[in-house]
Order: sequence, then structure tokens, then C-alpha cells
Amino acid sequence: MAEADTLAPEARDFIRDIVRDDLAAGRHKSIVTRFPPEPNGYLHIGHAKSICLNFGIAQEFGGRCHLRFDDTNPVKEEQEYIDAIERDVRWLGFDWGRHLYHASDYFEQLYDWAEHLIRTGKAYVDDQSQEEMRARRGTLTEPGRNSPFRDRSVEENLDLFRRMRAGEFPNGARVLRAKIDMASGNINLRDPVLYRILHASHPRTGDAWCIYPSYDFAHGQSDAIEHITHSLCTLEFEDHRPLYDWFLDNLPVPSRPRQIEFARLNLTYTILSKRVLTQLVRDGHVDGWDDPRMPTLAGLRRRGVPPAALRNFVRMIGLAKANSTVDVGMFEHAIRDVLNAQAVRRMAVLRPLKVTIENYPEGETEELDALNHPDNPASGTRRIRFGRELFIERDDFMENPPKKFFRLAPGREVRLRYGYFITCREVVKDAAGAVVELRCTYDPATRGGNAPDDRKVKATLHWVAAANAVKAEVRLYNPLFTRPDPDAANFAADLNPDSLEVLRGCRLEPALAQAEPGIAVQFERQGYFCRDTSAPDGHLVFNRTVGLRDTWAKVAASG
Ligand code: ATP
Ligand code: MG
Repeated sequence: MAEADTLAPEARDFIRDIVRDDLAAGRHKSIVTRFPPEPNGYLHIGHAKSICLNFGIAQEFGGRCHLRFDDTNPVKEEQEYIDAIERDVRWLGFDWGRHLYHASDYFEQLYDWAEHLIRTGKAYVDDQSQEEMRARRGTLTEPGRNSPFRDRSVEENLDLFRRMRAGEFPNGARVLRAKIDMASGNINLRDPVLYRILHASHPRTGDAWCIYPSYDFAHGQSDAIEHITHSLCTLEFEDHRPLYDWFLDNLPVPSRPRQIEFARLNLTYTILSKRVLTQLVRDGHVDGWDDPRMPTLAGLRRRGVPPAALRNFVRMIGLAKANSTVDVGMFEHAIRDVLNAQAVRRMAVLRPLKVTIENYPEGETEELDALNHPDNPASGTRRIRFGRELFIERDDFMENPPKKFFRLAPGREVRLRYGYFITCREVVKDAAGAVVELRCTYDPATRGGNAPDDRKVKATLHWVAAANAVKAEVRLYNPLFTRPDPDAANFAADLNPDSLEVLRGCRLEPALAQAEPGIAVQFERQGYFCRDTSAPDGHLVFNRTVGLRDTWAKVAASG
């Protein structure tokens, strides 16, 4: 089956318009973008927006996209995250080819450029403590004040900076700052820090360095080194753009990238902040970074979300210059859209109720044909077992049904999907009065689901045969947070205590024992489910990817 998204028309938005113009005007021969994650956590659905944008533009305009690890803070960065990020970008369907880079690859060049700024009188070593620097930074309405160390000579600055590199000073003793303007209306230009002392081992450079460049000093220059043409980032970097450009103006860089900002993705009932996601994992609120409730790509994959659904979703929400929050229902809509077309259909009973067909011969069974996908005959049929003992869904029976309940009830006839019509004759209860079994009869003339006399039934139920059904655990997921706008500063208060519901003793048709993890199937009438990867051998566990009900369509239709 063709990937749903390859047929979609090419997206148009303000960034693609800029890129198109730049190509038309001959400002670039080809387009180079990059996706620059900091390896301090797993990628989430917000990153998917950035990945689809950067890799998508490169594909659409025949350019290339680099994967660059923005690894300037060794204290928070780990190899586990690097591996996870590479896996997740590939899973989303993108390939950086040989263009894998690290900001740490440029540490020597960045250091040289820092000395260049010192030699041209545009950087100085500051001995103030963090608190002193903060006190002199000023506010949005008041200018800052110059550091007492601002007018050191070039020689003294060079000497101190080299000794910082040589490891002569402890953490925090000194920093290197750009000498720009302490009175600037833009606080990012008030002599920003370029280098700080940090005696910490780096995942790639080991103990070679004890000073590390700031994000701002590393980012734009890394772009320039790689000849990035368009450096796409989220809106919070808009105020950093003058600094980004200042470095390019004041350093002998080999190219001149252009930074363009776009709105970050926010989703209702979701927090997309690596700090919070890290805490959810560390404090054990979830079962790791790939917990299916997490908005991480690893979690979504384990949950059964197909990568095409993420790509379609990103296209659907478009690209804007103002921040907003997207209804998580829209994401679910994108998932259903892909799975409705792709997922094979199976029958699974999540909360089983035993049914005995009294007039079905004891010890016998038979096989019936079931469609794998009703809209797609090419996906074929399978054989399912029918016999005297079956399971149906507990919710599909009511002893005293209200008016609008059309499913099974005493004396009533319903259809079993791909099977027969059955009629409920007797309700068996345990000592406590709970229904434990239904005694029914079937009409052998209705094999396959239709009556020769054309009589109608009002409901079709899913079911499985007790003879060969397999047992499984099914995990139902609800939003991790109870509020549409959970508070990132105090997220624990908004955690949903019912985000995970575990059903044990579910009965599935035997074909599901062969289900592949990572590929969702539809449990008829229930939703989409995906086999879990973490279950021990011989133990079947399924995760609910998403329910069938499309609440978003209703919202959109009434809006
Ligand atoms: P956090 O703020 O959660 O720590 P981050 O933005 O610092 O995340 P990075 O690893 O620096 O994480 O992000 C890599 C790229 O992904 C950046 O270009 C960033 O702008 C982009 N990005 C991060 N979050 C989102 C989001 N919610 N929507 C769109 N792009 C995002
Ligand atoms: Mg960042």
C-alpha cells in the first residue's frame, strides 16, 4: 500500500515561500537545512514538527538536511539519547545520509573564533560571579552596567582565556563574554557569555576540554561551517537572532546562514518540555521514555502510531509565526486516518462473558471466513473458529436493557460477526447475583450472517471461540494529564491517576498471537491496538493506540 502522505500536494507556507524565492533569485544553488537536537532527552512530537519541516524542505527542493547534535553541555548529555534520536529520526522516515555532525566536532574552530573576537577587541574575560553578572544585567526597562573587567587588554584577555582552557581555574571562576552593548534593548546583546569553565567529561571529546561554548556561540557558527542556507528554529530564538547575526558579522565564517523562526507545537493534555519529560521518567510516573503515554516518538511507536500519521499531522497543522495549541483530537484523527486504511481487522474480546450455544453439537467446531479488511478485498480473508462455547463482550449484554440498547438481552436475537444469529435463552448467575454465562441458541440457516427469510437483527457483535482464543493483557491509555493546559511548573498536580487501565484475561482470536509489534491492528468495534514490545516470552500484551470514535470530526463539523 502506498504511504498515504506521498500523494499529498506540496505544502505551502511562509518558510517554503522564502526558500522558493531564494532559489529563484539565485541566492543559493541548493538548499541545506539541519535538525539540531541537544542529546539531553528523547525526541517528542514537537521535534517531529521540526524534523518534518527541515528534512521535508530539503526533499522538496532537492537539497539536503543535516542531523547535528547540539552537544555543548556535557553535564546533561548521554549516549543513550544520541542513539534514541538517530533511531527516532529514521523511524519517522528521514535520512541524513553521510551528513551526521556534532557541535563538538567544531570545538577547536569555535575556540579559534573566540580568540579572534578577543584579538579584535570584541570579547573579554570576566571574573564576576554569576550573581554579580546577574545584578549588572539590568532589566527589560533598565540598561545593564558594564563589568569592571570589560576593559582588559587584549594580551591579558588572551592569557586568561588560554589559562581557562588549560584548566587553571575552577568551575565558575571566569567566563568569556562578547563585548557588545550593556545598554542594548535586547538583553541577549548585553555582553552574552561565550565560554564557561566546566570540568566535566564529554561523551565525544572526553576530557579534552574544560571550557564549553554557549548555545548561542556554537549554534550559528556550526550552521555557517556546514553551509546551512536556512536555519529554522522555534520562536523563542527570535530575540537571539540579532546575536546570531552579530557573530556572523564579526567572524570570518565560510557562509552566511539565515535564521527563520516558526511557532513551536503545543498540544492539549500534553507537556512538550524535555525537562518535564525527564522528570516523569526519573520520578517513575511513567514506565520509561517509551511508555506509550509519553508524547515521545519512542512512546508513540510503542503505542502503534504509524510514522505516516505523524507526518500527515505535521502537514495538517501547517506552519505559523504565532504560538498556539493544537487539539490532541486532531492528532488522533491523523492516526485513525492512516490506520483505518492500513490496519487489518481482528476480533478481540476485552471483557469476556461466556456464551454457550445449547443447540450446537458438543465437541464439534467449524471454520468461517472473515475479511481482513472490509474496504480492501486484496488483503484477503482468514478462517475463524466457531463452536459451542464462545466469548462476547460483557458490555454487549444487558439483562434489563433500556430502550436504545439494541445488543443482546434475554429473548433477543443478534448477529455474531461472520457467524450466525443467536438468541439469548437463559442468564446464569453466581451466588452474588453477577451474570457469569449466557445460554443461547443459534440458527444454523444464518451461517455467514444472513437469514434466508430476510429477518433483521439490530446488532452485530464481535466474539471469539473459547476453543482456540488466546489470552492476553490489554492496556488502555488515557491522557497523562487531566487538564487541557497542564501546568509545566507544577505538573504533578495535573497528572491523571487513570492514565493507564490494565485489562487481564482478554480473549483474542488466535491470529493475534502472531501480531507484529509496531504494526497496529483494528480490534473490531474497539479501536486500534498494537502488540507491546516489552512483554516476556509467551505473554501477549497489546496497547491501545487509539479508540475508534472520532470526537474530532464531531467538533470540526459543529464548529
Ligand atoms: P526543550 O525546550 O523541551 O528542552 P528544546 O527545544 O530545547 O526542547 P532541542 O533538542 O534543542 O530541544 O530541539 C531541537 C529542535 O527542535 C530545535 O530546533 C527546536 O526549536 C525544535 N523543537 C523543540 N521543541 C519543539 C516544538 N514543541 N515544536 C516545534 N519544534 C520544536
Ligand atoms: Mg534547545
